[in-house]
Amino acid sequence: MIRFEQVSVHYDGAARPALAAVDLTVPEGELCLLVGPSGVGKSTLLGAVSGLVPHFTGGILRGRVTVAGRDTRTHKPRELADVVGTVGQDPLAHFVTDTVEDELAYGMESLGIAPDTMRRRVEETLDLLGLAELRDRPIATLSGGQRQRVAIGSVLTTHPRVLVLDEPTSALDPAAAEEVLAVLQRLVHDLGTTVLMAEHRLERVVQYADQMILLPSPGAAPLTGTPAELLPV
Ligand code: ADP
Ligand code: ADP
Repeated sequence: MIRFEQVSVHYDGAARPALAAVDLTVPEGELCLLVGPSGVGKSTLLGAVSGLVPHFTGGILRGRVTVAGRDTRTHKPRELADVVGTVGQDPLAHFVTDTVEDELAYGMESLGIAPDTMRRRVEETLDLLGLAELRDRPIATLSGGQRQRVAIGSVLTTHPRVLVLDEPTSALDPAAAEEVLAVLQRLVHDLGTTVLMAEHRLERVVQYADQMILLPSPGAAPLTGTPAELLPV
């Protein structure tokens, strides 16, 4: 579903590449966890999947990244909306409307999706994320976990086959984190969505992961496998 072929990313002025000749594959319909120390290139890797690198972050990307066969360097994030949805590190910074329901509709409006499809998908997404009772609430009055679910929902309305999240639980308490992770697991198991998620608090998320990508140190080749294969017991 996601494929990297000899992918290198050089940011302007950096002494060394943020990613160096990375090859990897993320299979369809699995929850894949991306781990590694700070600065190792996790956000860069996610950005390459989303099409944010190089379009919005600058730098030079060499090699090929494809999602469902589409090259993310030649397509901008908007053109990838039906294959890859991205929830950034700080979703609070990205809310554009007042209420939950409006926020879910917003992404589809900008893509020109027909009004009755939009309505259907808003309902479906409210149900999927357990947000139906909060539909008219101003986002500013929601808890952190609820906001994170709205951020995920606003991306899911375009039915992306891949959902990319950068540390989606880092600002949440353990109970809210569990809620968000349960939603992601449901997406994978019930709808066959592929989830790629960076996370540094491994103990919190590892039980939800089908696959892992470990970036051990800057410039080193990633290790991939199941949690049981990669983690010492
Ligand atoms: P991680 O997410 O694992 O912390 P990043 O992908 O954010 O790692 O960063 C990898 C390296 O690239 C770091 O050295 C970081 O400072 C650098 N970097 C990240 N984004 C940019 C950018 N837009 N411009 C220049 N350097 C960057
Ligand atoms: P519509 O365009 O009317 O929404 P689709 O054929 O695109 O119809 O989607 C309807 C189907 O999508 C439903 O069977 C539902 O199970 C499924 N679905 C719901 N949410 C998602 C999602 N986030 N990603 C992919 N499929 C989804």
